[in-house]
Amino acid sequence: MSEAILPLSPSVDLMNDAFDALRHRSKEQRLLGANERIKRLDALYAEVWRRRDDLKTAMWEDFRKPGEEVDLTEIFVVKSEVKAVKKALRKWMKPRRVSGGLAHVGSASWIRYEAKGVALIIAPWNYPMQLVFRPLIAAIAAGCTAMLKPSELTGKTAMLVAEIVAAVFPANEVSVVQGGVAAASHLLSLPFNHIYFTGSPEVGKIVMRAAAEHPCSVTLELGGKSPVIVDESAPLKATAKKIAWAKLSNAGQICVAPDYIFVPRAMETEFAEAVKNAMTELYPGIVAENPDYQRIVKDVHAERLLALIDDAVSKGATVAHGGPSDAEACLVHPTILSDLSPDSKIMEEEVFGPVLPIIPYDDVDEAVKAINSRPIPLALYIYSKRSHFVSHLLNSIQSGGASINNSVIHVSSNHLPFGGQGNSGIGSGHGEYGFREFTHMRGVYEQRVDGAASFLMPPYTAWKTKLIDRLLRWL
Ligand code: NAD
Repeated sequence: MSEAILPLSPSVDLMNDAFDALRHRSKEQRLLGANERIKRLDALYAEVWRRRDDLKTAMWEDFRKPGEEVDLTEIFVVKSEVKAVKKALRKWMKPRRVSGGLAHVGSASWIRYEAKGVALIIAPWNYPMQLVFRPLIAAIAAGCTAMLKPSELTGKTAMLVAEIVAAVFPANEVSVVQGGVAAASHLLSLPFNHIYFTGSPEVGKIVMRAAAEHPCSVTLELGGKSPVIVDESAPLKATAKKIAWAKLSNAGQICVAPDYIFVPRAMETEFAEAVKNAMTELYPGIVAENPDYQRIVKDVHAERLLALIDDAVSKGATVAHGGPSDAEACLVHPTILSDLSPDSKIMEEEVFGPVLPIIPYDDVDEAVKAINSRPIPLALYIYSKRSHFVSHLLNSIQSGGASINNSVIHVSSNHLPFGGQGNSGIGSGHGEYGFREFTHMRGVYEQRVDGAASFLMPPYTAWKTKLIDRLLRWL
């Protein structure tokens, strides 16, 4: 089935027509059984697989993403999400009987899991396919129709996303709008039933304000500064390698990338050296020539990162590891900073690149205090072999998710809810949690035989007053 692809930055009329078609269709889409929904998800994955080489070419051209990482962090993620949904969808969709109280004697109550209707999915550029398709899989599983708005910064991949969607879905089930802020702003003015936004906290606030006008529910998958705390019990080399990998994968452009690290003061130098060695092992030779090392999405973003390094250095930071960068070529060399001044800009904004500040602590509660003085992060990473150290930190620091003795990998689980709190987001995605975001839990009550409530209506005679009094005391 192939439908026309909307032109780049479509007119307001075209977007309105596409929305109307989705809204009209949503009344039937919501009634699709599990088999029909699964058929669509299978077709989506089959088309993704068919376009595997094209996806690799597009992402290489967009930001030199290595083919292996397209397989691992884009295609495999879509495959495993489809698999997880197929395995459990019937169970998630099944109405659930619930019990009632004394007032409900003679009745039955149940919850129907119903599609919210038309969903708007707005995605960022850092995982340009899976961050569009993972929520789409949840929306289709829930029985919604959906409008997708991939990022304009990874335009080659956005075009492929549109082609894949057009090959699988009629335009009244799923439509893709390729465009930037103007297109996204218009879409946000339309009365969608749910908005699933992945991106920066700043734009997340714009999305939430727009949703208040309809009003509709939102899932906000945002970002922020995810801290790491290392304990002296953590094995140095293995810990350094996991952190180096999590920081340099996708050139650090991951919403849950380790943003900054606290280490015990006594091991600061040794730890910086171990991370530096691990970075060099992962990306040997001249990084500019290493095909495994990704680029920053745009030159302005590379310039932002280099300005963060310059600012930190001008305020006294030491470059514990670094090398030649080239903003014009979107290349930022893996960099480790130590001796940071707390007023460096890098300690204020999300790094979102391959630059790692290391901060020493004498007492771990200093780290707790510093982290808790900032907005709640999307992830918290703890490296320790001591369970009381881990539980102390889990109890003392709020975060969207947490990972112990590893970083970033927790995001790939379809069994854990993935989402933030406050500045790092609202709601959760992945597996059942994604399905629930696009689903309305409709409570249904059926009175089968008249029950207790009918005895408690006015007029309030003496015996009714007494009965109400007894009920209040004894129930
Ligand atoms: P962004 O917020 O700039 O853009 C995200 C999307 O919003 C894009 O499609 C863009 O076109 C659109 N957009 C931008 N400005 C808009 C506006 N004024 N009105 C309406 N729409 C607008 O984010 P980005 O630079 O693409 O991605 C990086 C950010 O995303 C980081 O903060 C990162 O942490 C976060 N992120 C979060 C997750 C997560 O799952 N929590 C995943 C990936 C990235």
